[in-house]
Amino acid sequence: MRGHIGRILPVALALFAAFITLMVSVASTVDEALPRTGAAPAPEPAPAADPDHGDETVAVPGTDLMVSVDAVYPGGRTASWIESGASTRERTAIPAGSRASAATAAAAQCRDRAYALATWRVKGRLSWTYNPSAAPAAVGRSALTEIKASAQALVAGQNVCRLPGPFKVTQAYQSTTKRAPAVVATSRSTSCGKEDGASVVGWKRMSSTALAVTCTWWTRAGQVVSADIAINTRYAWFTKRPSRCSSSFDLRSVLVHEWGHAYGLNHVSPTRHGSQVMASTIPACAVVRTLGAGDHAAMRKLYGVR
Ligand SMILES: [Zn+2]
Repeated sequence: MRGHIGRILPVALALFAAFITLMVSVASTVDEALPRTGAAPAPEPAPAADPDHGDETVAVPGTDLMVSVDAVYPGGRTASWIESGASTRERTAIPAGSRASAATAAAAQCRDRAYALATWRVKGRLSWTYNPSAAPAAVGRSALTEIKASAQALVAGQNVCRLPGPFKVTQAYQSTTKRAPAVVATSRSTSCGKEDGASVVGWKRMSSTALAVTCTWWTRAGQVVSADIAINTRYAWFTKRPSRCSSSFDLRSVLVHEWGHAYGLNHVSPTRHGSQVMASTIPACAVVRTLGAGDHAAMRKLYGVR
């Protein structure tokens, strides 16, 4: 009997180890949107680490876990994009009531078909929760409505270019939560915490200059497991563009961008493709709530139209 167990035990242990390996075989990435104009309330020194690194994927030693970081900081090449981006006409703020500017912005958005894809996608539906704690008073009451609208804008393919939608993928708001987004963003680094099976959108005071940061965890087969979005409370946010706007940011515009990451879209250059939702920076006061031709082409490529 003892000899029998001696033969079975190593096999059972090997099977258990294989199971655990499978369970933790998820990878994660982090994406953040930066303000275009350098309107950070309290500018921070540039990070010591090389800020110009692109998408970085590393294996966590001792596990089968992959971690991918896509972070952009002021001080490197990205900063020059931010600075020059502010002076270009590609994605400038649309003055309230200015129809000509709105038409020009729409035309630019519909002409540009640039996009970049990540290596993951959502299968079927992404269900998510919302943590309202720390939401700024200015947007607190309407924040959830705006976040829902932003997720829906992406999967429905909302656009002003007469492009078809919705896409063959959905989103579903579940409930409020007390969980915090598993996002760690400081002035020096940006990373993701542990995948916990829940997708959480919430507010965080982060010393990072990012407006918002998205962590997406996915299996090696490229299927999203969950995505967390942290919105930085160091910035001023609006849900309705104030008539006199100088340094606050549109919650819905930034969230459409962050959902874009969760659903498998990557950045395009803000100087060349500033009209697109997936441009990596957004100017203060700008409203970019609908998909550009490039954003739409990316979603269509990944999911197809219903
Ligand atoms: Zn981004």
